[in-house]
Amino acid sequence: MSHQESYDVIVIGAGASGLAAATALHAAGRDVVTLEARDRIGGRLLSAPTVRPERALDLGATWFWDGEERVRTLAARSGIDTFEQHLAGDTMLQETTGIRRLTGNLIDAPSRRFAAGAQSLTSALAAELPTGTLRVDTPVTAIHPNGQGGLDVLTPADTLHAEHVILAVPPALALERIDFADALPADLVRLAQATPVWMGAVAKVVAHYPTAFWREDGLAGAAFSRTGPLQEIHDMSGPDGEPAALFGFAHARTVRPGFEQAVTAQLDRLFGPAAATPEALHVQDWSGERWTAPSTVQRLADYSLFGQRLYLRPALGGRLHWASTETATEYAGHIEGALAAGERAARAVLAAPSSTNDIALDVTTPSR
Ligand SMILES: Cc1cc2nc3c(=O)[nH]c(=O)nc-3n(C[C@H](O)[C@H](O)[C@H](O)COP(=O)(O)OP(=O)(O)OC[C@H]3O[C@@H](n4cnc5c(N)ncnc54)[C@H](O)[C@@H]3O)c2cc1C
Repeated sequence: MSHQESYDVIVIGAGASGLAAATALHAAGRDVVTLEARDRIGGRLLSAPTVRPERALDLGATWFWDGEERVRTLAARSGIDTFEQHLAGDTMLQETTGIRRLTGNLIDAPSRRFAAGAQSLTSALAAELPTGTLRVDTPVTAIHPNGQGGLDVLTPADTLHAEHVILAVPPALALERIDFADALPADLVRLAQATPVWMGAVAKVVAHYPTAFWREDGLAGAAFSRTGPLQEIHDMSGPDGEPAALFGFAHARTVRPGFEQAVTAQLDRLFGPAAATPEALHVQDWSGERWTAPSTVQRLADYSLFGQRLYLRPALGGRLHWASTETATEYAGHIEGALAAGERAARAVLAAPSSTNDIALDVTTPSR
């Protein structure tokens, strides 16, 4: 039986962006619930455990860079250990004509990583929320104006009501999975449907080894390939090389039967026979993830649509606010952009002339 619940704010999506918004609103005293479709939080932050619980292998985002202050600050305040990406050593180049070793690391820029995996960022944000205000296994199927100024948010089990909704889901995916009762303006629908999902058409492959043997050969673990299946490869080992791992990106459309054998054969050619037999090979095809990739994901390529002005304007009578890294006006695509977009959406809710804000103003005005 369905029942109706009311909140100041409903946040849809418990990735970095949604959780940044939810924690900011909770800290500001708002009654907020976060609804997540998957059975886990993190979205495109996904870290596979290893035998050492404090060390994980990232199957989604890996790095952050200088100047990404939101990520750095969140890691520092949450006690998340970070370390420098391994850079030392030579680069391998694979062309149709053969393989060459090039002096120095020509691929990797200086960056930092998260010792326990990037998903520890979203776990830390979720830990700041009160118990019971974050629901997994709760896909939102519809958002409808309710005729009294607020929004109804439908899930398979419930109809929830909110003054404001933050949509922290890649826009093209939101338009495909959520029914808006034809209430969104046509220009916004066109924009959202055309906006690419960052890394949504990519497969990330992580090969986990007993040791970082390539380092002993003076190799950085970095490779660039014009033949594939992996197009670029990086050292993804943990602090001090433990756990030892290489990772690569492949076009999702190349993931088909025989893909894993093709990957290990490629790693063997680039890094020697020890690379042919990883302890574990993880293939994370993000294009096949129902809660990341819309059916159009392979065709969406106009990255100039990221952070467009329309995303900054709340829709549905000022009640629906966009978040997700694709809507960020800075660092779009990155974790930093996801956090920035979530914080921006939270600020917009706090600044909106809602009934809750009016009450707050009434209380504070006389004491000034
Ligand atoms: C392979 C890969 C490598 C990357 N590497 C890096 C990197 O090195 N550095 C970097 O900064 N960034 C990197 N990124 C990008 C980074 O992961 C993203 O910018 C960031 O995680 C996006 O966060 P988000 O909250 O905007 O979206 P998401 O993480 O996609 O979160 C959206 C959430 O909404 C949920 N959801 C979707 N639909 C619904 C619905 N209808 N109802 C309820 N919930 C729903 C999803 O399950 C998900 O949890 C990488 C991404 C990938 C895939």
